[in-house]
Amino acid sequence: MHIAMIGTGYVGLVSGACFSDFGHEVICIDQDAAKIAQLQRGVIPIFEPGLDALVARNVEARRLSFTTEFGNAVRSAGAVFLAVGTPSRRGDGFADLSFVYDAARDIAPEIADFTVIATKSTVPVGTNDEIEAIIRKLRPQADFAVVSNPEFLREGAAIEDFKHPDRVVVGTEDERARRVMREVYRPLFINETPILFTGRRAAELIKYAANAFLATKITFINEMADLCEKTGVDVQEVARGMGLDRRIARQFLHAGPGFGGSCFPKDTEALRAIGRRHGVPLRIVETVIDINSTRKSAMAGKVVGACGGSLEGKTIAVLGLTFKPNTDDMREAPSLALVPALIAQGARVRAYDPHGAAEARKLLPTLDTASDPYACVADADAMVILTEWDEFRALDLDRVKAVLKSPVVVDLRNIYRPSDMSARGFRYFGVGRG
Ligand code: NAD
Repeated sequence: MHIAMIGTGYVGLVSGACFSDFGHEVICIDQDAAKIAQLQRGVIPIFEPGLDALVARNVEARRLSFTTEFGNAVRSAGAVFLAVGTPSRRGDGFADLSFVYDAARDIAPEIADFTVIATKSTVPVGTNDEIEAIIRKLRPQADFAVVSNPEFLREGAAIEDFKHPDRVVVGTEDERARRVMREVYRPLFINETPILFTGRRAAELIKYAANAFLATKITFINEMADLCEKTGVDVQEVARGMGLDRRIARQFLHAGPGFGGSCFPKDTEALRAIGRRHGVPLRIVETVIDINSTRKSAMAGKVVGACGGSLEGKTIAVLGLTFKPNTDDMREAPSLALVPALIAQGARVRAYDPHGAAEARKLLPTLDTASDPYACVADADAMVILTEWDEFRALDLDRVKAVLKSPVVVDLRNIYRPSDMSARGFRYFGVGRG
């Protein structure tokens, strides 16, 4: 199978590399010429564990290549995947579909034989109808089918998720397209991964509904954490007691500073806008968005409290800047709200992140960064854990205590045990550990 992957970002590059590893011949296309030039030189533009080796292996086997040109790649492909960005549109929060529609216009002139155009980008209900209409208008006689194939991988575990997904969702009413998609995902089919064929609009909505549900789960436990703080309860015990119920499940019940990242914030906002557009206010989703947006900056109040009521003239060491561990992605990371909030309260902030420093320099250009966690916490008035990198779980806490100016730890990811931390002489503040 020949595949063209349009958009070579976190989703497109991982999907393209994994499809080539399945044995397909994949050409990844991106309009960002600098990114393609890097990839052609063997440089991976993002941090994703295992991706460099996977790409190198498949480039070497001549199954994976990179280009800025649509022509040959689309003409030779049986399946063309769209994995371009769908960020929040300024103003109304609806998904900005301009990248998707631009790509559709670039695909149209190059369609040769029957071609499946499969949309991996997260798009509102009805977008694939529009993609089909755009291509049909430009190429009335072309033989193609547009399919919704939402992607559920998580950054940081993207390869594992892509190769061993809980399910693959394929939304199409076209039998020929179903056959092509079965062939594309055949290695997973053989592994008995459920491949769920649905209507095209249902597939579009499944992605938003799934993300909004997970965002709701996080927000729910965050509110329980607030209640735990007032009632002398440890939210970790509550989460465990809830999560062992298989109807609830344990994942996404970790209290913290509020969700961030490249998907949940924009997808909940887009779903809210989709609901409003159709006259169906999605009140749970609207509330989740409101709670989460105030929560991120409210975490500064926790740090202020831990530091005795004022941050004026104090140095706060922030460990972790990315929105979650094992990625360099900073999109909507809680750090982007917390760091400015701490500075606004008069603090000097010094930060360390194992892989996020380069991105952080673009988004927080004046931020002082350290090259290792101990240099970061040296002489600081408090250490704040903001991203739960394994490296921070394994810190030498006696060394941390020795170099901190005051032994204050604000653990916004609950990676340490309160009893252990007080036994070591820290003043320890977690989330929801009343
Ligand atoms: P990204 O910003 O990392 O990558 C998008 C890429 O598309 C960029 O490299 C950009 O240059 C390229 N591009 C944009 N317009 C183009 C065009 N017309 N032609 C060619 N290339 C073009 O985005 P991402 O994080 O990979 O997300 C892509 C889509 O997948 C989004 O809709 C997102 O919601 C969805 N998604 C993302 C994740 C995730 O974890 N990042 C998970 C599931 C789904």
